[in-house]
Amino acid sequence: MAFSLLIRGGSVVDGSGAPARRADVAVEGERIAAVAPSLSGEAARVIDATGKVVAPGFIDMHSHSDLFYFACPSAESKIRQGVTTEVVGMCSFSQAPLRVEHQTLVKGWVGGIGLTPDLQWETFGQYLDALRGVRPAVNVVHFVGHGALRIAAMGFAARHADSGEINVMERHLGEALDAGAWGFSTGLVYPPSSYADTREIIALARAMAPRGGQYASHIRGESSMLLDSIAEAIRIGEEAGVRVEVSHVKASGRENWPKIDAALRMLDDARARGVDVAGDVYPYNAGSTKMDNLMPAWSHEGGIAKLMERLADPKLRRRIVEECLVDGERWGTVAQGGVGFDQIFIASCPRRELEGLSLAQLAQQSGQAPADALMNLLLDARCTVGMVSFSQSIDNVAKVLAHPALSVGSDSIPLFEGSGDRPGKPHPRSYGTFPRVLGEYARERKLFSLETAVSKMTGMPAARLGLRDRGLVEPGHFADLTVFDPAAVKDESTYPDPHRYPSGIPYVIVNGAVAVDDSRMTTRAGRVLTPAR
Ligand SMILES: [Zn+2]
Repeated sequence: MAFSLLIRGGSVVDGSGAPARRADVAVEGERIAAVAPSLSGEAARVIDATGKVVAPGFIDMHSHSDLFYFACPSAESKIRQGVTTEVVGMCSFSQAPLRVEHQTLVKGWVGGIGLTPDLQWETFGQYLDALRGVRPAVNVVHFVGHGALRIAAMGFAARHADSGEINVMERHLGEALDAGAWGFSTGLVYPPSSYADTREIIALARAMAPRGGQYASHIRGESSMLLDSIAEAIRIGEEAGVRVEVSHVKASGRENWPKIDAALRMLDDARARGVDVAGDVYPYNAGSTKMDNLMPAWSHEGGIAKLMERLADPKLRRRIVEECLVDGERWGTVAQGGVGFDQIFIASCPRRELEGLSLAQLAQQSGQAPADALMNLLLDARCTVGMVSFSQSIDNVAKVLAHPALSVGSDSIPLFEGSGDRPGKPHPRSYGTFPRVLGEYARERKLFSLETAVSKMTGMPAARLGLRDRGLVEPGHFADLTVFDPAAVKDESTYPDPHRYPSGIPYVIVNGAVAVDDSRMTTRAGRVLTPAR
């Protein structure tokens, strides 16, 4: 028997949660041909995995890489973590569908933080074809963003949709499903998705239910509104009869941290009565998003250009401060909760010298009140500012990560190709999410076994997504594989020094091709996947 690739001598952790076992893994073409204690035969390439674990490639259940694949198809910060499939189109954001007259609006909406998108399509299908053209290094599971559906139907209008507009959204959603979308996502804190009422989301979910479409929910509020917002996501799944994924499960803001237990209980109760709901989590107590999301929803009406006008209007600035300033030292919208100015950091900004500073430091340096420093920064940078904010409890992170129904999603973007300049202080989750679960949480803290950790990042999410031939080390499955050293695997990326690849992951195989070879990126072999319906 001749194989294209033989991985010898490793310990196979197959993604099902079953105990590790000594086995060789043979690959023929793009699929796994055999898994057995000792395989003989010719192979074009042999990898010695002695002392290493051979696992399925990791599935990032929640990623924003789609916004960056065209600029960074190698997605090196992802694949070097062992990620072979990413779920994208999350939190209401996607670059399609797109009506020609909305080009500028959508560029402002998905652009920023170093990205100037070049939008050359209208339908979701045309967009997916363009994405296939750049051949990302990882496999892509794409959702369509509710924000994109809504802009196509009604622009950036800050109001509920009428039935005609919902029909238009349903039509665009149907086209996206035809083209290969897995379902749709909301970002109910992000305009324009946040302008929708529950009825609108249920209508869209119902429309896709007969076709097996799934709903990924960045919920309406992760702070004071947490429990009501989880209830809303569950209700949407229950009333529409669709599978729901609660994105990046967390409780934001110190006063809301104790609510995490009730939130997890609500998921358990819903599952017990048959609602198909689960979720994902990233293993960090800081979040990251565009800094203009610190502005209240009403101030975004009409898009970024309108937001800039409002930020320059003294009366409206006062109104924003009245709404968002808490006790003079914390800032937050109703949906996001208050975070101290010393806990909000500039991750990326056209003024590079400001990157890494907290808003409190920026205020001090510039002699302004923190609120003014924030709004002036957004004005100066035309809202192209990324931030990292510490709003969560590290104990909660472990609690959520350990929950058996929750998988792992980085909520991140891929960063910078090649060996050039790596600007900014992006959230380390872009480089470290998956090795951090293996190293910090499984090996060091013993939060769960290695087998459970791997299963949460492979077999479990594959089953949620209905990926029938990925997520396990099993003959017949696609050869998406990660070879790592269980004693050494570690995230190296930190908040002050984020641009560092993890250690202990020498080989990553995508569709049978060795994409990371001896810790070096070699080839792009990813594929845009389409759901089996
Ligand atoms: Zn989100």
